[in-house]
Amino acid sequence: MFENLSERLSGVFDRLTKQGALSDEDVKTALREVRVALLEADVSLPVARDFVKAVQEKATGQAVTKSITPGQQVVKIVHDELVHVLAGDAGEAGQLKIDQIPAPILMVGLQGSGKTTTTAKLAKRLKERDNKRVLMASLDTNRPAAMEQLQILGAQIGVDTLPIVKGETPVQIAKRAKTQASLGGYDVYMLDTAGRLHIDEELIQQAAEVRDVANPRETLLVVDGLTGQDAVNVATEFDDKIGVTGVVLTRMDGDGRGGAALSMRAVTGKPIKFVGLGEKMEALETFEPERIAGRILG
Ligand code: GDP
Repeated sequence: MFENLSERLSGVFDRLTKQGALSDEDVKTALREVRVALLEADVSLPVARDFVKAVQEKATGQAVTKSITPGQQVVKIVHDELVHVLAGDAGEAGQLKIDQIPAPILMVGLQGSGKTTTTAKLAKRLKERDNKRVLMASLDTNRPAAMEQLQILGAQIGVDTLPIVKGETPVQIAKRAKTQASLGGYDVYMLDTAGRLHIDEELIQQAAEVRDVANPRETLLVVDGLTGQDAVNVATEFDDKIGVTGVVLTRMDGDGRGGAALSMRAVTGKPIKFVGLGEKMEALETFEPERIAGRILG
């Protein structure tokens, strides 16, 4: 995911650390290259600009350039700033608010983003790591295949799905899921809403109605990490219209340029909570800013 960015940055920093003494001008030149590398990785312009400015403020002046290992100090500052841009100040990654029984989790996102797969991956994780009893329900009444897909995945991972009843509306399904989850002693119920290829009125309206009925503890937006700045735009729009509590970035196993991960928090203010790293049910990880910053800097 970050291969190109990582390669570009290591080139810049190799030169910097080999140089020994550094002037403020050397740092500035290096940071100009960092800015270009970020933009090429599809990081949004204001985020790249703020990033470089923050590093520059910390890395120029006596303390760093006059130190014994100025290059390494600059790398350390860049690392810390990467962690900051990835996660903000809060450590919400991997955490879900499950503070009532049953706790509803609403899954939203565009069609093809990996929403249904991620719903099942998360259910498996909640079951296996947190010992939760989970019920999953598909609300995609337009696409019977999507409903069946969730059932198949549920059977595969040993997580119950709400039986499919033809002719129900998404709101009716959400209500039935809630009743079933309460009566059946489930800790969590997950509502996999319908996706569309683009954000349209109907999609938003439907998700909003379901949200109002379910009163979710978490509304997780699933977005395709390969789509760079588009992913961030989708997140902004979903958040404006429905309100999201966290983001799951999928396809982080692919060769996207990484911009979505780097811009998401800064632009939307929402935490990335998990990342999808493949099609398998195990391929979901907690989003760990430290590790990602480490990976970017090689
Ligand atoms: P939905 O339409 O948003 O529900 O999307 P699906 O869950 O059906 O996923 C669409 C395709 O993307 C499927 O083939 C998934 O296996 C695949 N997919 C989902 N998440 C990931 C991921 O993190 N990495 C990769 N490589 N593929 C994924």
